[in-house]
Amino acid sequence: MKITYVTLFKNLIDYYFHDSILKIAKEKELFEIDYKNPRDYTTDKHNRVDDYKQGGGAGMVMTPQPLFDLLGEIKEKNPQAKIIFPVPAGKPFRQNDSVRLAKQEHLVFVSGRYEGIDERVIETYADEVFSIGDYVLTGGELPSLVMSDAILRNIEGVLGNNESLEEESFNTDLLEAPSFAKPYDFRSILSVSENLKGNHANIRSQNLKMAQLKTKYFRPDLV
Ligand code: SAM
Repeated sequence: MKITYVTLFKNLIDYYFHDSILKIAKEKELFEIDYKNPRDYTTDKHNRVDDYKQGGGAGMVMTPQPLFDLLGEIKEKNPQAKIIFPVPAGKPFRQNDSVRLAKQEHLVFVSGRYEGIDERVIETYADEVFSIGDYVLTGGELPSLVMSDAILRNIEGVLGNNESLEEESFNTDLLEAPSFAKPYDFRSILSVSENLKGNHANIRSQNLKMAQLKTKYFRPDLV
């Protein structure tokens, strides 16, 4: 899998891959990333990539020319590349999207800044348009990272233990049951006694009950 980040601020994204699980997975070449900066494609003599909003209104909008040229180049080299725009108005990004997109060979995340991207770019190039929640962030870099993190952990070998994926929240319609590390008795706060007895069928059934209760409590909409 290759991920291309289209961003004016590469460092905001790049640091995330300097540590932990995704750093190791990248070193093992389980995926690769690269960056494209719209500013490198602008034909504006002052190197600008934004302009005033048509019809007035507050803020600037990312202009179409640099992004048309940049994304056109990507599509010409690889027509299979899937282009994703994070936007607050997009459909909510879900776990099943992350599983589905993990099967793609090349994903391209296009980060907006300012008041967003000229709609003609999105209309022309978007394969998918996602929101990561009902709030507005200053740019698309965090949403791009959030989605790529969720996608990359579905790639074989990225997590140490693939079983962790099966038991996780949203894999079915349930949230994951509460997890407890050792010891069973921590400062007189007890965890679940069933875990001590070592009967795996009972532990599974106990976990299922706890997952059902937790889902009903925190996310009744999933039940
Ligand atoms: N004016 C836009 C609106 O009201 O919908 C918001 C633009 S926002 C300040 C700039 C960029 O941040 C967007 O183009 C998008 O890339 C990203 N962004 C902000 N909030 C987001 C969210 N909840 N989900 C996905 N992307 C988001």
